[in-house]
Amino acid sequence: MTHKKVAIIGAGIAGLASAYYLQKNSPETQILIFESESKTGGKLLTSAFAGVSVDEGADSFLARVPWAVELCRDLGLESELVSPSARTASLWIDGKLQQIPSPNVLGVPLETESISEGLLTPDALSRLDSNGVPSLDLPDSDASIGQVIQSCVGLEVLERLVDPLIGGINAGRSDEMSCAVMAPQLLEAAHHPDGMLSRLKDLAKNADPTAPVFHTHPEGMNRLVDALTKSLENSFKMVSPVLNISRLSNKWLVETEKGPESVDGVVIATPASVSSNILEKTLPGPAQVFDSIEFASVVLVTFGYSRTDFEADSSQSGFLVPRSSQLFMTACSYSGSKWAHLRHPELEILRVSTGRIDDDRHLNMTDDEIVNELRLDLNSTLGIESAPVDVRVTRWPNSLPQFPVGHADQMNALDVELGHSAPGMFFAGAIRHGVGIPACIRSGKEAAQQLSEFLYG
Ligand SMILES: Cc1cc2nc3c(=O)[nH]c(=O)nc-3n(C[C@H](O)[C@H](O)[C@H](O)COP(=O)(O)OP(=O)(O)OC[C@H]3O[C@@H](n4cnc5c(N)ncnc54)[C@H](O)[C@@H]3O)c2cc1C
Repeated sequence: MTHKKVAIIGAGIAGLASAYYLQKNSPETQILIFESESKTGGKLLTSAFAGVSVDEGADSFLARVPWAVELCRDLGLESELVSPSARTASLWIDGKLQQIPSPNVLGVPLETESISEGLLTPDALSRLDSNGVPSLDLPDSDASIGQVIQSCVGLEVLERLVDPLIGGINAGRSDEMSCAVMAPQLLEAAHHPDGMLSRLKDLAKNADPTAPVFHTHPEGMNRLVDALTKSLENSFKMVSPVLNISRLSNKWLVETEKGPESVDGVVIATPASVSSNILEKTLPGPAQVFDSIEFASVVLVTFGYSRTDFEADSSQSGFLVPRSSQLFMTACSYSGSKWAHLRHPELEILRVSTGRIDDDRHLNMTDDEIVNELRLDLNSTLGIESAPVDVRVTRWPNSLPQFPVGHADQMNALDVELGHSAPGMFFAGAIRHGVGIPACIRSGKEAAQQLSEFLYG
């Protein structure tokens, strides 16, 4: 068998996972990883804050889907993973913090008794006592989360519970978001003949309520990135942005400022706007699809408050802010309550975010202005008046892809088009199956599998 050479473009979690599975399943393959930054990991970034390792972006991943847990197991990290010490969170609603009903599935409450008084009107509550059969015929393949929830359990549950939770995942609007991509379990339940609520309650009966929902590593998400990067020591890494990809006979030419590299196959795992640019000349059709994907920009500000000035509720991991509240902040996480390893001896560490697909005020603000605006919100919500001891601002421009209804079909069509017009080229990343780390790993793993099959049959 001849040894093939491939390029993985972009060393975020999706690209690294792709390289990892390619190396694992086809060790004879020569892998070249192209990354524009000197550091791998892309949007996974941990750094020191007040002497502890605090993530500047993603701080955990879903434990109830397999891909991230499996990868950690493979890398020997599974036994080091931890889960949140505080498992409940609140919503800032009607000018006060109110407990998110539990159990819930992406904000849909499963027990009306768990809903705090006044959170929902009697009409909305009685709707939740029904089976949740949709009031409208829902399309089979996809519908917006808004359409699904409103039709099964009503507008109030959508606006006050589901939108803040789901919007917190990719800063999007649930009335425009694909249910098939963002909440497939809700779509499946809505189509169940017994009704959405009956189906979700049935599924919940078989679930272990004590099983962790999220995992992280005590050293932060960098630990996963470092372990992956180390496992790829034998791959060749090129720190240079890819500028263009072109076709030369039956090879791909990956062009950087350092010159072209000829390869037999490619996995594109760059942000969609970059993928569009590097394919524009050679594959205008796919480039246009990448270009059409909309992204939300967010900012994550880490605050350190002296515990003599503010003490977070240790039973809560934080709170979410619905768009109807008109606050600048979208969420606040109490790091020391959520994660035992982030309980600082003197400080309360809060991670506070701002920015939504329909609120990009922060783009025109300086870091100081953002901090001041968030401090006003921390004062309104938590009563914090004093100045923080430490502050860190991390901007994530165009970081969270939006998934309109039909997005999954569009991605499948892109797969098919690449199969016809770009043999040996595959794509991975947050646009494929969703923004979550497990979904990104899944996309990388699948692209590696497709590339292996292409190369070796
Ligand atoms: C603030 C924030 C909080 C989040 N929180 C969570 C969370 O708690 N849990 C969770 O599961 N998910 C979370 N996410 C989502 C998750 O972090 C991302 O969806 C995921 O990390 C994206 O990975 P990726 O590999 O697709 O893309 P990226 O991480 O963007 O990787 C793309 C890589 O391509 C490189 N690149 C760019 N241009 C070029 C070029 N021309 N040539 C070569 N390389 C290039 C980039 O430098 C980067 O390394 C969060 C995201 C944000 C922004």
